[in-house]
Amino acid sequence: MNTDKRKVVLIGTGMVGMSFAYALVNQGGICNELVLIDVNKERANGEAMDLNHGLAFAKSNMRIYAGEYKDCKDADIVVIAAGVAQKDGETRLDLLQRNTDVFRSIINPVVKSGFDGIFLVATNPVDIMTRVTYELSRFGASRVIGTGTSLDTARLRYLLGDYFTVDPKNIHAYVIGEHGDSEFVPLSQVMLATKSVTEILEDERNDYNIDDMQSIEEQVRTSAYKIIKAKRATYYGIGMAIARIVKAILGDENSVLTVSAKLCGEYDSKNVFIGVPCIIGRNGIKEIVELSLTDEEKEKFQKSKTILDDSFNGLNL
Ligand code: NAD
Repeated sequence: MNTDKRKVVLIGTGMVGMSFAYALVNQGGICNELVLIDVNKERANGEAMDLNHGLAFAKSNMRIYAGEYKDCKDADIVVIAAGVAQKDGETRLDLLQRNTDVFRSIINPVVKSGFDGIFLVATNPVDIMTRVTYELSRFGASRVIGTGTSLDTARLRYLLGDYFTVDPKNIHAYVIGEHGDSEFVPLSQVMLATKSVTEILEDERNDYNIDDMQSIEEQVRTSAYKIIKAKRATYYGIGMAIARIVKAILGDENSVLTVSAKLCGEYDSKNVFIGVPCIIGRNGIKEIVELSLTDEEKEKFQKSKTILDDSFNGLNL
C-alpha cells in the first residue's frame, strides 16, 4: 500500500458521500488527495468545484478533483456511498438486487485499475453491500470494511452520556449486529469508565433503571426512521462516521470501532459481514474483538446474523 501520501477515492457524490467529503475538508489533515467519482459526472465536477472554493477556509490543504476509475490505482481507500433509492412498491430484495448491479459497475473497474488498498462501504443495506464488495473484489477480508453499526454506536454513547450525565467518551458501549432492525446493545458489556452499567442499575441508591436502558436502545434503533421522516435522509452523522474510520485507517490508530467485518469463527459465525467491534489500523481490520455475550445476547446475535445470511443468499450475484 502507498504510504507516502494519503489518497482517498469517493464513489457516489450524493448526500452521504459529500457529507463525508465535507467532514474531511473541515477536520483537515486526514488525507491530502480526494478524488470524486459519480455516474453523474456533472455532479462530481460541481461538488469538486464547490469544495475547492472552501479550501481557503480549511485547516489544511488538499487536492480535490472529479476523476475516473483509473485514479483508484494508487489510492489508499475507496469509499463507496453510491446507490439507488427505493422505488414505490419495490421490495427490499429488489432494491438490494439493483444496488448489487450498481456495485458490479463500480467494483470491477476499481479492481481493474490495479487498486490495492481498502474498500470502505456505506451504501445500504450496508452489511450485505460490504459482503457483495468482498465477493466481487476477491480482496482479503481485512481490506473490505462496512460502516456497520459505527453510527449507531455513536448515537448510543451520546444518549447514555446524557442519561448518566457523563462525557460519552467515558462510556464504553457497542451496538452490534445488522445495521438495521435486528441490531442490539449487549447490556452486559456497557461500562461507565470501568464500572459495569448492570451493576449501577442494580444499585438501589440511584434512580437508574433497565426500562430507561431499553428505551435508549429503542431510540438508537429508530433514530434513522425519525430523521428520514423529518428531513427525507440521514447524512451528516454517517458522513462523520466514515471520516472517523478513514482517519483510524490512515493514522494507523488501532482504534476500536464497530464496523461491518467478515466473521471467521468469531461469535460462532462464519462468512457473514456484520457489525462488531474491530481494531482498525493502516491495513484495515487488524482484529475482531469478541465480546463475552450472555446466552440471551448470543441468541440475538444469531438472529441478526441469520437475517443477513438470508438476504445475501437471496441475491443473484
Ligand atoms: P444520494 O441519492 O444522495 O446519492 C447517491 C449517489 O450515488 C448519487 O450521486 C448517484 O448519482 C450515485 N450513483 C448511483 N449509481 C451509481 C453508479 N453506478 N456509479 C457511481 N455512482 C452512482 O443518496 P445518499 O443519501 O447519499 O445515500 C447513499 C447511500 O448511503 C444509500 O444507500 C443510503 O441508504 C446509504 N446510507 C447509509 C448509512 C449508514 O449508516 N451506512 C446512513 C445513511 C445512508
